[in-house]
Amino acid sequence: MKKVIFVSHCILNTASKVVLYNQQSIDAEEKLRLQFVSTALNNGIQIVQLPCPEFTLYGSRRWGHVSDQFDNPFFREHCHKILTPIIQQLKEYLSNPSFEVLGIVGIDGSPSCGVDYTCQGDWYGSFEGRTALQEVLRNTKLVNKRGIFMEVLDEMLKEENLNDKVIVRSLYAREPDKCLDLIR
Ligand code: SF4
Repeated sequence: MKKVIFVSHCILNTASKVVLYNQQSIDAEEKLRLQFVSTALNNGIQIVQLPCPEFTLYGSRRWGHVSDQFDNPFFREHCHKILTPIIQQLKEYLSNPSFEVLGIVGIDGSPSCGVDYTCQGDWYGSFEGRTALQEVLRNTKLVNKRGIFMEVLDEMLKEENLNDKVIVRSLYAREPDKCLDLIR
């Protein structure tokens, strides 16, 4: 039986990520990413890459966002559109006893792909003439919620009655076992 796992796009392609500046958190995530991918490959697990909702809407020069900004009908519609072929693939693998779907792995902290944690903040508008930028950054925080892409994915799984059949976990450097336990 072949084992299959679905992962957020940047678990296989970090070029899709927003440009980051916190080297410590980049290094910690990269270490876990390499461990996760190499363990999956060494264990013969097939990896299906989800599309990146942010890269496919805003490209490589996008700003960092918070989930509040993506919580709108247009972004949700985009997520729904690019997830539709993924749900079809998921259904096909689940319908065939030759395959075992291990789950879906997102990226904690992401405004889109967060599973247990996403980032929230009162973040909007132009930078020009802005005086309280540091305060806005200080008030941006991790909260125990799904990112918007993962919320839409949850809704689509529920519509297809797949939510009890598919485990959704996340890659998060501070809680590495969440993703590693799926593939060991
Ligand atoms: S939106 Fe998701 S897939 Fe794209 S870079 Fe962010 S976490 Fe990765």
